[in-house]
Amino acid sequence: MKKNIRPGIILPKDTFFYTISLESRQGLTREMLELHYPVPKGRKVYMGNHVEYKGFKNALISVEAKLSDGSENILYLHVGLTELDIACTCGMPGEKLCFHGFMTLHNLAWFRRLELEDYYWPGIVDDDKIKDKFLTTEVTKNWIKITPKEKYGNIFKSNIGFAERERFSLTTPAKTLAFPHGGQEAIAYCIAYNLGEHHVHLPILMACLGITSKQGNDIVSFKQFNHQKKLIPNVSYTANQQMLNTISLQQHDIAKRQYGMAGEEKKQESQSLKQAMLTLWEQAIPLLLKERYIYRYYTYWLRYLRSKPRKSDMRDCKYSLERPVLSFQLKMYQDHFALEAIVTVNGNPLQFKNKPPLFVFDKATDLIYLMASVQDDDLLRWMLLHNNRLTILKQHFREFQDTFFAELSTFYLVHFIDPNSKKIEPYDYNNITNYLSM
Ligand SMILES: [Zn+2]
Repeated sequence: MKKNIRPGIILPKDTFFYTISLESRQGLTREMLELHYPVPKGRKVYMGNHVEYKGFKNALISVEAKLSDGSENILYLHVGLTELDIACTCGMPGEKLCFHGFMTLHNLAWFRRLELEDYYWPGIVDDDKIKDKFLTTEVTKNWIKITPKEKYGNIFKSNIGFAERERFSLTTPAKTLAFPHGGQEAIAYCIAYNLGEHHVHLPILMACLGITSKQGNDIVSFKQFNHQKKLIPNVSYTANQQMLNTISLQQHDIAKRQYGMAGEEKKQESQSLKQAMLTLWEQAIPLLLKERYIYRYYTYWLRYLRSKPRKSDMRDCKYSLERPVLSFQLKMYQDHFALEAIVTVNGNPLQFKNKPPLFVFDKATDLIYLMASVQDDDLLRWMLLHNNRLTILKQHFREFQDTFFAELSTFYLVHFIDPNSKKIEPYDYNNITNYLSM
């Protein structure tokens, strides 16, 4: 009996280790153990056994076993990635798991699965100097606790990884490109639009890969649009950007369909396409407010949209969550009336002469506003096509009222400028009739 083994001694090279393979991570249950030894019958053999942890050196857990049959041995346990190796001071004759080994492990796994993962520290516990540098080892009779020293935090285990890593799963990194420093790739979002009467397309959102300025607060060069046909490769988008990209691709589809239609077909379907586009923009603007690089891009013709935007056609822009209110103003002259559309936000008129579909770009604040409805937009665009002025001769006003204005003035607020008092008051046809006969 080798009772007085000095702690830390390395066992002879030819020491026999019996191996039990560990299936579910590094744990051993009594059921697993009982496959390796003819299970002794009766209760007596399991009583009066004293098993004590002694130490953890040279990657070996030593356990003293004083069993009721009078035997006294030290068991050495070595925990591998998928196996537990057991040596006994009895030498395990016949290279089979000995009674001491069985009874000791049986005892250690008495209450529950014997957890062995805490002893598995590849590259660390094999050398006690390294072990003592990184790990704290507490040994009591009943347990051994091995924990990383506080200053090393969570130590990576080869083949296993970090403790508790399974608590969360990683998805697309949230901030890879969100707040880059200068001179880095970043995703910018621009509203691609044009103006005019012909070849005008519905504005669409485009993602664009660019390079940031030194301070990182601007994009100095634009490399590539994110097209359905040609996606920007190898970019980690944030969740916010992924939502914007989905919207962008849907908008591109709608704009292409609307743009390609002609004549009667266009009239009928374009209203529903325009509504779909407005809805997508309603979803996009709150997301765009979270983005750092926002621009507007003048496209000329959508079908000639380049794969790479031209810097000179790119402008800064800011979105507002406010929706403009459309109203009208009626003014009376000597022989005619003039009707004008007014777009306000919180009572303040926006300043613009021209507008792309669905939006108003305010010159005074540089803010971009999404129109409240397709109908508002249609009306406003129609007014703007004609210099924002409808002229009605006095003698035609009654007919204008009956055929168009009565309806318009019930849906929209109309201000009338009284020619005498110069006061602005809500339009009322009954008050106008006095002037009509004049
Ligand atoms: Zn033995």
